[in-house]
Amino acid sequence: MTTERAGRCLCGDIRYRLTADPIVARICWCRDCQHLSSNGTVNVLVPSAAIELSGTPAEFGSTADSGNGVRRRFCARCGSHLFADSTGRLGLTVVRVGTLDEASSVRPGANIWSASAPAWACLDPALERVEAQPSPPKPPPPSPSPSQQTP
Ligand SMILES: [Zn+2]
Ligand SMILES: [Zn+2]
Repeated sequence: MTTERAGRCLCGDIRYRLTADPIVARICWCRDCQHLSSNGTVNVLVPSAAIELSGTPAEFGSTADSGNGVRRRFCARCGSHLFADSTGRLGLTVVRVGTLDEASSVRPGANIWSASAPAWACLDPALERVEAQPSPPKPPPPSPSPSQQTP
């Protein structure tokens, strides 16, 4: 059963509901996230269509460390970052967990971009650690051609 979640920016001008459960929850230590938040960001990935939005966020587009184009959405009044959409994962949207009414309702499973984390960062050793951008889901690789096989 899907647990509906609600969230908002700091001032409340932007409110949202998530009508699907998160696909994944992670802590991101890319330099862009550190600029935004002064720390790693805790994020869930949800189907973009599962976000019911009230209010109109401002937007900022840039190229991420991964090379993907990223559109970030935030409240123009209070500055809270809420969402990010990447050309590397069309149809899915990153939601900043700190803006959820119940941030404890999700549990991060991995630290990503861990190689960019500052020396003082606290990374739970029990969580999976990915040094940079995790690979998006891919079909299995083709079997090697005969010339590449070891005799
Ligand atoms: Zn706001
Ligand atoms: Zn990041």
